[in-house]
Amino acid sequence: MKPDFDIVIAGAGIVGAALAALLARHPATRKLAVAVVDKDAGKIFAADMPAGLRVSALSRASQNILTAAGAWPLMPAARMCAYREMRVWDARADNKDNPEEDGIHFDSALLGEPDLGHIVENDLLSACLQHLLESTSSVALLRSAELTAAKAGSNEVTLTLSAAEPGHAGKEREITTRLLVGCDGARSKVRELAGIKVNEASYSQRGVVAEVATSQPHRETAWQRFLPDGPIAFLPLANGHCSIVWSCSEERAAKLLQLDERAFGRAVTTAGNAVLGDAELAGARASFPLRRLHAIQYCRDGIVLAGDAAHVVHPLAGQGANLGLLDAAALAEIVAAALSDGESPGDLRVLRRYERWRKGENEAMLSALDGLSKLFSHTGGPLKVLRRLGLAAVARSTAARNQFARQALGVSGELPKTAISVTECPGESASAHG
Ligand SMILES: Cc1cc2nc3c(=O)[nH]c(=O)nc-3n(C[C@H](O)[C@H](O)[C@H](O)COP(=O)(O)OP(=O)(O)OC[C@H]3O[C@@H](n4cnc5c(N)ncnc54)[C@H](O)[C@@H]3O)c2cc1C
Repeated sequence: MKPDFDIVIAGAGIVGAALAALLARHPATRKLAVAVVDKDAGKIFAADMPAGLRVSALSRASQNILTAAGAWPLMPAARMCAYREMRVWDARADNKDNPEEDGIHFDSALLGEPDLGHIVENDLLSACLQHLLESTSSVALLRSAELTAAKAGSNEVTLTLSAAEPGHAGKEREITTRLLVGCDGARSKVRELAGIKVNEASYSQRGVVAEVATSQPHRETAWQRFLPDGPIAFLPLANGHCSIVWSCSEERAAKLLQLDERAFGRAVTTAGNAVLGDAELAGARASFPLRRLHAIQYCRDGIVLAGDAAHVVHPLAGQGANLGLLDAAALAEIVAAALSDGESPGDLRVLRRYERWRKGENEAMLSALDGLSKLFSHTGGPLKVLRRLGLAAVARSTAARNQFARQALGVSGELPKTAISVTECPGESASAHG
């Protein structure tokens, strides 16, 4: 019997929803029957929907992928901030007169680029992608449906979905698919059901996130200052405020969340060496545990992982969502090529091509971020010297700076086609964006 769906994607976050949208637009995959299931009810997409605390610095590659998916032109321009410069410096190298001098500076104008990327709210982007999927006839968006079991057969995977909405909670249904894609985040149920093990380590840090107003303008610049127990980043928002991501020890994070608003603002000001003047809390604050995780395999017969389900990275370079979008674009490309060659999307040989492509790229980023985190959190000895020398060397070398800038733009490594160029979808470019 034919399975209910060709592809079921567990998780309608940025990665899962973008994958579904890409599949629905590619000529080779647009006829596939795709379902996206998410245990959450989802949020209604609107230009004035409440601001989300968690933001991502999306690279040019991510912008291109989201444009190919049809979502970028729908994003409200008033809620996205292009950042044109980036400044990174070490607190222990602060130059008292000009704290910006002792560090690395990237300027999009010098690179011949309009910007280095965009700061985007995660909730807004996933609501936008889900809104797009609602009007996509080949995609069934099943909300409030939690994936609780998966059984792989010879040609299909049978999934159990448990209703999560009030009134129907716990009510189960079964669906079958040729391919199950786990885009269900760091605590992936798909990964667990497939029996895929992970390499995992805690950074013993938390990422404190909050929106702050600063007495000096952010100048469309992303600022990051490395403190002994982790970096604090000020990411520019379109409303003139900054979103901070402060990676720090668990003890410090607990204290920061308990401080009254004024004391919190003062702590943020000091942590950033008042680079943007005084900071004031402008909304809620929260913290997330920081860890490194990499799945040992990305696939089994009929099952594959993408995004945080496959890898979780330190947020110091803001790469988590960017890597996940590259996974989504690579998987969509591999599935399209497989269908054109008469192969089934759930075939292990097909999924291994994706694994070979993305696992090495992700591992390289995981290791680089691990190294950076260690380098900057070490308080003495040779690493301290290396840190000073390293930043100074990068700051002086045009080649090294360009390589870092290419990483930030997401245009290094082996890229999926949709990540390379901006291909707007006909008829959608004139909407909310602009
Ligand atoms: C403090 C912090 C700052 C960060 N800053 C950046 C940044 O600047 N740039 C960047 O690129 N990245 C950043 N990241 C990382 C980024 O937020 C994640 O990498 C990204 O959100 C992962 O997306 P995802 O779609 O893979 O997973 P998720 O966003 O976790 O989505 C998973 C989805 O799966 C659903 N789900 C889970 N289990 C089930 C189930 N059993 N059945 C059905 N549905 C299920 C969930 O409801 C959810 O909707 C940051 C992370 C942290 C912690």
